[in-house]
Amino acid sequence: MELPVGKVVCVGRNYAEHARELNNAVPAEPILFIKPSTALVRMEEPFLIPRGQGDCHVETEMTLLIGETLTRGDDDKVLSAIAGVGLGFDLTLRDLQSRLKEQGHPWEKAKAFDGSCPLSTFVSAEGLSWDDITLQLVRNDQLQQNGNSRDMITPVADLLAYICRYFTLRPGDVVMTGTPAGVGPLVSGDRLEARLDDRLTIKTRVL
Ligand code: ZN
Repeated sequence: MELPVGKVVCVGRNYAEHARELNNAVPAEPILFIKPSTALVRMEEPFLIPRGQGDCHVETEMTLLIGETLTRGDDDKVLSAIAGVGLGFDLTLRDLQSRLKEQGHPWEKAKAFDGSCPLSTFVSAEGLSWDDITLQLVRNDQLQQNGNSRDMITPVADLLAYICRYFTLRPGDVVMTGTPAGVGPLVSGDRLEARLDDRLTIKTRVL
């Protein structure tokens, strides 16, 4: 499938262990933010990270490609609107994000900058159990992230229903479902291998 052109709706702290590793409280409701289409790059191709702006963390996430419009009240249609599943990196300028949070400002510059969202190709979700999907990141031959969707605080169907109460999802939009623990800074030359269950393995590198 081609790279989508819509918005990317993301959820923060959807895995309790990841919230804890950043000393964040586990939220009572999903924390949503959006990456614009200018954030999108292909995960399969080597990608750039910003220079001179402190740590740029990688968060490996399962992504959902939306195939049908979902809006407020469409809760019973959310799973059938998923057109494909894939992998995404929610690149985060962590030092900048911490400063913005301290000041009570929005995160956009730290999360939605150009190139902040490498996305893989999407594959069929047929036969996947949404509550049992492994998600892994191997960085320079070391297993750095190893999660399972069963540990999501807000699981896939509930997350989509929650999102579309606030943001209508259109065909071509993407939802990122949150990162398990093990996030950390990237450096130029890193070799990355992201895996979504037995469906998808993407090898890429940081320029
Ligand atoms: Zn994330």
